[in-house]
Amino acid sequence: MMEQLELTTQEHKANALSHIIDKANDCFDKADEFFGNKFKRSTCNLKQRGRAAGTAHLQKNELRFNLFMYQQNPTEFINTVVPHEVSHLIVFQIYGNSVRPHGKEWQAVMRKVYGINPSRTHTFETPPQKQPYAYRCSCQKHQFSKQRHNRAQKGVEYICKGCKTNLQFIGENS
Ligand SMILES: [Zn+2]
Ligand SMILES: [Zn+2]
Repeated sequence: MMEQLELTTQEHKANALSHIIDKANDCFDKADEFFGNKFKRSTCNLKQRGRAAGTAHLQKNELRFNLFMYQQNPTEFINTVVPHEVSHLIVFQIYGNSVRPHGKEWQAVMRKVYGINPSRTHTFETPPQKQPYAYRCSCQKHQFSKQRHNRAQKGVEYICKGCKTNLQFIGENS
């Protein structure tokens, strides 16, 4: 739909994922050191959608993270969500399926290995159902999210792939 935007989004994604992977590796290193173990490293991706900031897929040894929430506050996300999810894998590798997901074993890893308060919930906003901002180019109307609208207002240019003209803000959807 928007050439310029797609490029920018790809860059954001690659950047976010590399920060997340760095942090996850750091979390595994800390757990190795703490337990005198060598935990199996997981894969990380940005497939998480909806209300969850992240999920740990224990059998696949895979962590999925929510890019929409990462973008709201990358530092907060890196410091809380990544250790939260890595802790699930650490607990699984030690105890298997025999313990509760946010039970005392998981809480102990969060506290003792990572020194953070074991919270089950996050404070990130969930994706809006409807895109609230209307833009137009020479050929059609486009809908923008609040985040994209804010970037556009700060000077990021979005170009319609169809007609190659700049998108102009025309108003909020009611
Ligand atoms: Zn959890
Ligand atoms: Zn157009």
